[in-house]
Parts: sequence; C-alpha cells; structure tokens
Amino acid sequence: MTQTLLRGRLLSFVSAPQSLTDSDSYRYETDGGLLMDNGVIVESGLYAEVKAKAAADAVEIDHRPHLIMPGFIDMHLHFPQMQVIASYAANLLEWLNTYTFPEECRFVESAHAQRIATHFYDELIRHGTTTAVAYCSVHKTSADAFFGEAMKRNMRMVGGKVMMDRNAPQGLLDTPEMGYDETREIIAEWHGKGRNHVAITPRFAITSTPAQMEATQALAREFPDLHIQTHLSENHDEIKFTCELYPDAIDYTDIYARYGLLGDKTLFGHCIHLSQREADAMSEAGAIAVHCPTSNLFLGSGLFPLKALMRRDKPVRIGVATDIGGGSSYSMLRTMDEAYKIQQLLGERLNPLESYYLMTLGNARSLSLSDRIGTLDRGTDADVVVLDAGATPAMALKMEVVKTLPEELFLLQTMGDDRAIVETYVAGVAAKGAL
Ligand SMILES: [Zn+2]
Repeated sequence: MTQTLLRGRLLSFVSAPQSLTDSDSYRYETDGGLLMDNGVIVESGLYAEVKAKAAADAVEIDHRPHLIMPGFIDMHLHFPQMQVIASYAANLLEWLNTYTFPEECRFVESAHAQRIATHFYDELIRHGTTTAVAYCSVHKTSADAFFGEAMKRNMRMVGGKVMMDRNAPQGLLDTPEMGYDETREIIAEWHGKGRNHVAITPRFAITSTPAQMEATQALAREFPDLHIQTHLSENHDEIKFTCELYPDAIDYTDIYARYGLLGDKTLFGHCIHLSQREADAMSEAGAIAVHCPTSNLFLGSGLFPLKALMRRDKPVRIGVATDIGGGSSYSMLRTMDEAYKIQQLLGERLNPLESYYLMTLGNARSLSLSDRIGTLDRGTDADVVVLDAGATPAMALKMEVVKTLPEELFLLQTMGDDRAIVETYVAGVAAKGAL
C-alpha cells in the first residue's frame, strides 16, 4: 500500500496537563511530518527526519500552516437521535417521552436505520471525530446498520443495542431474555470485526427491570473485556424516580454496583449530581463519568463539577462527549467551549490544553484504548484531524493577534466548528474530502 506523508504542525498529548504552561504534557513539532501506511502511523516527528524514512513513492500532502492532531473521540452519543436534535422540551423526562422514544421506534426498519447510519458517519467525519461511543436503539436492526457502516468506513467505533424493558412505548421494549440474546448475537456478529467494539448497553435503571439488570450482569460476567455504557445522575426528577424503583439501593450509583456494573470499563453518561459517597465509589471502581456539556445546558440538567471531580483525593476518571440528540452539536470543539463555560459558572478554570487532552488522549485513556487511538504515536491507528484556526473571516481576524499555541487552541475551541476541520483521516485515508 502507498504511504501517505502529512506535513504541518503536529500536536499530541503524552499526559494530563497540570497547568497552561505544562509543556511536558504534549509534543509539538512546528515543522512536523506524519507518515501513515496501511492504516497505521509509522513515523511521527520532525518533517525532515520523517521524510528521510518515507518510501520514494509516498504521497505527500502539505497541510502547513495547519495543526495536525489525533482525531477527536466522542464518548457518548445516540445514533438514533439525529432527528431529535433541537426538540423543544422542558426537561429530560419530557424530552424522552415526547420526542426521543417515538423517534427511536422508527429504527425497527432497516432502511431507516441504514439511511441515518450514513448521515451519522458523515457528520462525525465532517466534525473531525474518528471514534465515538454510541447507543443504538433497542432494535437489533439499528446495531446492524451502525456496525455495518462503521466497517464500510473502517472506523474504530464502540456501540451497543440498548436494553430496555419498561417505562417506554411498546415499540421500544425488549425483555430480559431478548436483551440478553440479541446482545450476544451482536457481539458474535460484530465485536472485533473491522475496528468495531460492542458495548453492553442498559439504557438506564428507569427503563430496566431488576430482571433485566440481572441479565446485564450475566453479560458483563461473560464478556469482562467489553465496555458497559449507561446513564447516571442527570436530572433531579430522574434520580428521584430511579431510587423509587430500586428502594433497597443506597443511591443511584449503588443500583448499578449491586448488579456488578460499576467497573473500570463502565461509561456513565452525565453524573452531574453525585454525592460524595457516589463519587468515592466511582473512583474506587475506576468507573468513568462522561461529561456532555451541550446536552446538560440544553436540557437544563445542571452544571457538571468536572474540575472538582478531577482534583478529589479520590479522583473520578472523566470523558467528554456530545450526547447527540440531547446535545446540540456534533462538534467536539463546540462541546469543549460549553464545557469551559460550565466551569466558569462554577468558578473554575478549564484551560485549553486540558480541553484538547480530554478530546484526544484523555478520552482514549478513559476508553482503555490509548494504545490504539488518541495520540500520534508510532504504531497507533492513523486517525487524524487537521485544524485551521483561521477558517472563517472572524477567526482569521482574531488569528492576527494570536501568539501562542494555547491561544490558538482556545480560539479554535471558542469560535470553531466543522468549518475549522480541514481534513479528517480515517485509518490513513482522507475521509472528509471524500464526502
Ligand atoms: Zn445519553
């Protein structure tokens, strides 16, 4: 296969930034080269040195003066909710019942699921996201469309059919047995095929009976390497209703713990209103709190204490995500802009180095996939995004006075969206340009 050599400014994190001046936390090459071959990064560093190692027939693409970074990772979104975005609802439970559940019922039809899957991957690529962790609908057809399209595009994706057997319309309910059997079928058909990862996906405790939680626990025991994803502590009414459904549990987090679902592969969407006990339990288990800022603001769910959870004596592992369709943008740049504003309202600072760490290596670590994605390291997947901080006239004007890398990153995050994504490489192939 022909090698591809990218030239531009390379930026890749090696650790969580401790401050705005923590230059040990990242590698930055102002004249960098990235050599990709057969879907993998084979060399990364100074352009002149990488060029010297490239094959004579390597195709060279000059992205100067743009920034070349690892592709963005979105840790939580809902594939069947592309047409739920911008639904006018007072709060989470009204939004689910009025808009979201009826829309998800449509995914029983393969043709609809396939059509939306095509749009879904187009939007991810358009916005520079190369890996995402998604909820499909309850229907196996939706998981088949999701994973089939990921394979076609050779993307590293994580996803699962939601299991839900109560408190939703009939067209969205499975049973404990069906949820178990279909998840097993999906694992057999799709896990490890291409770059697909299947996640065990009980939607949340409100929509699963204790019998379904037991079936979920059985799956988690049988497939200990798989991710588990669900929702936790998003909204006060939701928390109250959930705890009424499981009166024996100490709190919401304890419900999942009782069914063996609190572990270091478990991704909990939201976690806005955790008690200290719950945060301790999450920390001890190594479970991940996935922050979805545009969704939290859109649904009025609350302000996620990201910085406070990170600096506890028992820190909680963090992920960041769009949560389409409660979330309102596919862009991880827009997402981190809103994350920044939420911390501002809490009297905290989220610096731009931390934001870009979280979108790339931070999320990869929280997914236990940092050996494959989230960096520009040799031997990892060639999933790459190219960013232009002067993509719009207003951004270009501001760029005239930008002097440092953190200032440039902050401008991209504050004003950038899909227009700032020059190119998205998936397994070494330019995918955005091909849309
Ligand atoms: Zn969600």
